[in-house]
Amino acid sequence: MSRREFTKTVKAQIVKRAMLASGEITCEGCGLILGKKAYEIDHTVADALQVDKNAKLTADDGKLLGLDCCHKPKTADDKGKIAKAKRNEANHLGFKTAPAKKLRGAPFPKSSKPKHERQALPPRQLYEAKP
Ligand SMILES: [Zn+2]
Repeated sequence: MSRREFTKTVKAQIVKRAMLASGEITCEGCGLILGKKAYEIDHTVADALQVDKNAKLTADDGKLLGLDCCHKPKTADDKGKIAKAKRNEANHLGFKTAPAKKLRGAPFPKSSKPKHERQALPPRQLYEAKP
């Protein structure tokens, strides 16, 4: 199922929750006053990890995060968790996700020099016969 997005009403609720009495918007992750900096309404639990997607998203499901201070790092972290959850699910259901193929580069160039022949040494005696 596709990702659920917050409705405008819910987004407004979240923005109001993150707003100080002075009207400044703060990051709900770290408390930074964002001023004119970009922010995102973040799914507190990444939506790809939600099992029940029929329920409507509410203001409790989202957080206002500053784009640079909290949202980008969390998104990177969530992507790892989502990939892991997908692998676990595949293992549980008994199939493997296709393994990433090994990168194949160009082979080493063939040398134009003739191959060096090694001369065989005479066999060495480990023990000497005593007279
Ligand atoms: Zn933050």
